[in-house]
Amino acid sequence: MATRKRVAVVGTGTVGSQAAWRLAARGAEVVAYDRFAPGHDRGAAGGETRVFRSVQTDDSRYVPLVRHADALWQQLQAETGRGLRKLTGCLFMGPADDPDMRTVLDVIAEHGLDHEVIDADAMAKRFPQFRVDDDDLTVLDPRAGFIRPELTVQTAARRAEELGARIRRYTPVREVRPVARGGVEIRTDADTERFDAAVVTPGPWVGDLLPDLPWQVSVHRAISAWFLPDGDHRAGEERPGFLRRGAHHFYGLPSPDGLSVKLGLPQAHHQPVDDPNRLERTVAPEELETFTEIVGRYLPGLNPDPVRLSVFMEGYTGSTRPLVGPLPGCDDIVLLAGFSGQGFKVSPAMGDIAADLALEGRTDQPIDFISTLGRATA
Ligand SMILES: Cc1cc2nc3c(=O)[nH]c(=O)nc-3n(C[C@H](O)[C@H](O)[C@H](O)COP(=O)(O)OP(=O)(O)OC[C@H]3O[C@@H](n4cnc5c(N)ncnc54)[C@H](O)[C@@H]3O)c2cc1C
Repeated sequence: MATRKRVAVVGTGTVGSQAAWRLAARGAEVVAYDRFAPGHDRGAAGGETRVFRSVQTDDSRYVPLVRHADALWQQLQAETGRGLRKLTGCLFMGPADDPDMRTVLDVIAEHGLDHEVIDADAMAKRFPQFRVDDDDLTVLDPRAGFIRPELTVQTAARRAEELGARIRRYTPVREVRPVARGGVEIRTDADTERFDAAVVTPGPWVGDLLPDLPWQVSVHRAISAWFLPDGDHRAGEERPGFLRRGAHHFYGLPSPDGLSVKLGLPQAHHQPVDDPNRLERTVAPEELETFTEIVGRYLPGLNPDPVRLSVFMEGYTGSTRPLVGPLPGCDDIVLLAGFSGQGFKVSPAMGDIAADLALEGRTDQPIDFISTLGRATA
């Protein structure tokens, strides 16, 4: 009988918790470390919701990975009985000649994705919570909605523990180093453990843990803001997520409370973070100006004064494509980092790919476009 592989997971956040689940499900002996505890709000995950969508705005090569993730979201929900994801649909809105809106239609055509094109009159009746211009294109992705990030990370970590994984909470890893004749050592303040392989998923702390990484991942600070409807506001019965392109780029999600709406802005609005251990979590009034403008211009009926603000951080690569695969010269250390604002929806697929790479040294998933192998720049 083949011996069980011992695999470390460094960082039990969004991707690491899924990797721990997939590795444990496949019979590996897993030890997962986190500097905090699964479900914390000090990294890239948190703030109640994350968008899941089947339709992509930038690169159609994500579609098969999202499909794989979709199946695993269903599997994790079925195994645990927890409502991690709610499919409410997602509206893509913007000028018909906007390049991202054209990509939306191209991706739909290339992959035969379910969708609905909605004209301005129908939008006004069916989705009065949004203001669209007459020449806007609006496309509904029905296989979309929101994921609960904290619940997901805790559920994947708990499922991994049920399958035999050990999670070392509040245990920052200080060093991940290859061992001369194969394998990896993980050093913490308390001890050093030896493994056959390591999956390294430190999110925004990637530069902190791996300062000599040959690719640059810059960390940015992202603000989420929640808004309530004004008294006379009537939303339609449907409460989809939404994403807008054109003069303003933003996205939003209905909150699970059935009332408020969360808004987020793209990377161009995120301040760089010099040290992920010193994230500025206070939001200055001037940082709210774009949110206020967006509410006034596109979301009639929402009160422009936010009722809640949260600050998270995320690692971005120059190309916005994540880094997935072995570190140069060390096949036993598998890195998954730099998800560039897109990692939550695909995280179960990324966890499964991490398990493939750590256990088999290869994967059948189409990851050439995000692989670290032969990658000169990030
Ligand atoms: C505000 C915001 C909104 C977003 N919205 C969406 C969205 O709608 N849809 C979507 O798909 N994606 C979205 N994203 C992106 C997505 O959330 C991230 O891509 C994803 O969470 C990144 O996961 P990660 O595992 O790399 O990082 P994290 O979830 O931060 O996990 C990293 C973990 O590693 C641990 N760690 C770090 N260093 C060490 C160490 N040395 N030792 C031990 N543990 C360590 C940390 O404590 C943490 O738990 C959003 C991101 C942000 C910030």
